[in-house]
Amino acid sequence: MALIMDKIRMDNPVVEMDGDEMTRVMWSWVKESLLLPYVDLKTEYYDLHVKHRDETNDQVTYQAAEAIKRLKVGIKCATITPNKDRVKEYNLKREWPSPNATIRKILDGTIFRAPIALNNVTPAVRFWKKPIIIARHAFGDIYDAASLRFESEGEAELVFRHGDGQKSAKLPPLGGPGVIEAKYNLDASIYRFAQASFNYALMQRMDLWFATKDTISKVYDARFKQIFQETFENEFKEKFSDAGINYNYFLIDDALARSVRSEGGFVWACKNYEGDIISDLVSTAYVGTLALMTSELFSPEGYYESEAAHGTVQRHYYRYMKGERVSTNPTAIIFAWTRGLRRRAELDQNAELRNFAERLEDAVRMTIEKDGVMTQDVANVADRPAASVVDTQTFISAVRANLERLLARQAP
Ligand code: NAP
Ligand code: MG
Repeated sequence: MALIMDKIRMDNPVVEMDGDEMTRVMWSWVKESLLLPYVDLKTEYYDLHVKHRDETNDQVTYQAAEAIKRLKVGIKCATITPNKDRVKEYNLKREWPSPNATIRKILDGTIFRAPIALNNVTPAVRFWKKPIIIARHAFGDIYDAASLRFESEGEAELVFRHGDGQKSAKLPPLGGPGVIEAKYNLDASIYRFAQASFNYALMQRMDLWFATKDTISKVYDARFKQIFQETFENEFKEKFSDAGINYNYFLIDDALARSVRSEGGFVWACKNYEGDIISDLVSTAYVGTLALMTSELFSPEGYYESEAAHGTVQRHYYRYMKGERVSTNPTAIIFAWTRGLRRRAELDQNAELRNFAERLEDAVRMTIEKDGVMTQDVANVADRPAASVVDTQTFISAVRANLERLLARQAP
């Protein structure tokens, strides 16, 4: 029986960005079972379904990003980044860019990805005792690059122009068909990335690591290294020393090796591409599944976005559409909502909303840790055999039952 209670009030809306495939299906289940019965949910809704992006010539993505600037908090479902197959599958006008890349470019923030640690999932790396949080720069690099394919031999150079002046750099002679890519970043964005990373490490009282390949990338990566060092010396050296934490710079290959030998417990600032890849590796090694990871973007202006770090789980979706039972894990989607609502609660000083979001996170943990009720991905990596391996909707119902218990315990 559902608990009878007043719904929790929200003073300001959050930006809700709906998505594609299995995550879209889970999005509505999570809202219906775990949010709407308890919270008087206020959202400004943007439908980022790939077909709707196509119909609006991707304008809806830009509108959603602008809405986050206005309302400060966005919560995003996973979305398809169309490639040629998807253009055919959905009959799209073109290969629209990644909505994540568009939104991140507009917000120019840093993404922090942390494992959702559970007491019955031991990290694959047996030395890891504490979480490793990946701070991913969300601007530039290959996500906003110019590239081309060439069909013959030829030559190429990079040219930068400003007013009457120009600078150029030549590539070696190109001896045949091949590909070129030119990426960039901006000092201002790198400073913001450094600041966000140092601040977050300070907030968490964890060491900060930063790593690049500056021995090879003597201009590009070296500039990142310089800016981090300068930011540390000028703004954070004393604060870090007072907090008893360290800043460590490594070469990226050294950092990878060290991370595996470490006991964890640090924030690892990564350039955009490294962050994309290393966060998947660390979360899978840490908790065995991408669905047990939070992903939150912070910008210096106070813009915030939370999301599930995994994709739209296409393979499960096709099975679901055929009427098969699927055991897709909704945890990262639930945490996208709880983190976004916690942020809203913080900004609006809404203690009730904050409490609700925290209890919902507890309910998920109780379901997996105490009840042993798990989706297949977690059952595959759990230390003890699951009490039951369930489909997505059964998992959500089990979380709801725990949520009701936790809320009832607090009822006046
Ligand atoms: P994916 O959706 O992350 O799924 C890859 C595999 O990981 C799944 O087949 C599944 O493995 C497992 N998995 C991921 N999430 C899971 C969950 N919640 N519960 C259980 N298992 C889960 O990546 P993809 O299939 O490569 O990409 C599909 C689409 O997502 C693409 O169109 C891509 O553009 C998009 N994408 C979006 C985002 C985003 O919006 N944040 C990020 C990445 C990719 P098994 O099949 O072995 O069970
Ligand atoms: Mg990735």
